[in-house]
Amino acid sequence: NAQDLSPSIYIAGHRGMVGAALVRALERAGYTQLITRTHAELDLTDQTAVETFFADQRPTQVYLAAAKVGGIHANDTYPAEFLYQNLLIEANIIQAAWRHGVERLLFLGSSCIYPRLAPQPMPETALLTGPLEPTNEAYAIAKIAGIKLCESYNRQYGTDFRSVMPTNLYGPGDNFDLANSHVLPALIRKFHQAKLDAAPSVTVWGSGTPRREFLHVDDMAAACLHVMDLDPDTWRTQVDPRCSHLNVGTGVDVTIAELAHMVAEVVGFQGQLVFDPSKPDGTPRKLLDVTRLRDLGWTAAIDLTDGIRQTYHWFLEHQGQIR
Ligand code: GDP
Repeated sequence: NAQDLSPSIYIAGHRGMVGAALVRALERAGYTQLITRTHAELDLTDQTAVETFFADQRPTQVYLAAAKVGGIHANDTYPAEFLYQNLLIEANIIQAAWRHGVERLLFLGSSCIYPRLAPQPMPETALLTGPLEPTNEAYAIAKIAGIKLCESYNRQYGTDFRSVMPTNLYGPGDNFDLANSHVLPALIRKFHQAKLDAAPSVTVWGSGTPRREFLHVDDMAAACLHVMDLDPDTWRTQVDPRCSHLNVGTGVDVTIAELAHMVAEVVGFQGQLVFDPSKPDGTPRKLLDVTRLRDLGWTAAIDLTDGIRQTYHWFLEHQGQIR
């Protein structure tokens, strides 16, 4: 029956913003055998637990979207946790995926893997060509290790493990916690609160001059399914096995000041923006070169203003549940 033909797909990290978007996209695409486990059910840093889970479930495909993530402040404050937990999660899942015959795995990384002063837009080949941005070095090292795990298992064991490196993501299910979140959800929350309080101004961290690229998480999920579905011949012939990660972005960036004005407009905050240069700027620019993925047939579809509007709407509807 049709049920048996559908691959069984494990989505690691399905409670996160990206994992949840992947589940929505897979369900919409008609996949019926999705496997998920909450953190309480399966601790991905526990090697024995992960090994037992794969032995029992034997998924055909794996989306590795589980990670400890956070914005510039969280990365800068908890480097040990970011490095240790992410290394364990990746190593445990990738090793178990190989041991239990997973046919295809997609590892999700981040654009912070590239050197702080990489050429812009950043091509995949910029990896390991220079020093990293110090505020997120620990996380970046873990994600680089993940790419190299995939490439090494492919090389030594003939597996089909692929990697995608998204730019800054946002959307429904994001973390809106002011201390630990990324800039876009933080600004939505700050401007919303300021509007309610009729506050005269909102403080934006840093100088406002860093440039960032923002991708809606539903675009990211669509890109993941696209990459997962590329047939192995296309993959083998078009993607360099020693530089096999693919950038996922829109190809367009804005300054933090421009972003702040866009969010203020969507939220309807009419006061002033005040920049706080005592907070870190992070890397000056982070724009991905998305030529490779475009040549493989995928481009982003969701406009930034529309995406902010939709995310603000989600924020308003989930006031009780936001993180
Ligand atoms: P990054 O892309 O790794 O630097 O991570 P973020 O999304 O946390 O920060 C991006 C930029 O936005 C940095 O230059 C921050 O200083 C700036 N920014 C401005 N206001 C905020 C805020 O309220 N929260 C965060 N996380 N970043 C902010």
